[in-house]
Amino acid sequence: MASYKRLCYRCKKNYVPASWKDKFVTCYDCTKKESSVEIQDPKMKELFNIPEDYYKENSFLRNIKLSYIRYNSLTDRQIEAFKETVKKLKNNPKKK
Ligand SMILES: [Zn+2]
Repeated sequence: MASYKRLCYRCKKNYVPASWKDKFVTCYDCTKKESSVEIQDPKMKELFNIPEDYYKENSFLRNIKLSYIRYNSLTDRQIEAFKETVKKLKNNPKKK
C-alpha cells in the first residue's frame, strides 16, 4: 500500500508509512500509551480487536482508534473505512 514515509511529528525520530495526504503522522510508539486504554463498549471493543501489527503498520487505523478514545464516538463512515482497511490488510499480507 504505502511506500511513502513521513517523519513522526511528535518524536521526530521514527519514520511512519503514510500516504501523501497524511500531513501529521505519529508513529506507533507515540500513540501506544494513549491507545492502550480499555474500551468499554463491547461492539467497539470487537471492532478494535485486530492484530497489533495492523496498528503498527497503518496510521489510519491508529487514528481511528485514537479518535474513538478521545471523543468516545465514531461516525458510520469512519467505522466503515476502518473495516475496509482491516479487510485490505488481511487480504494483502505485508511483503518484506
Ligand atoms: Zn513518534
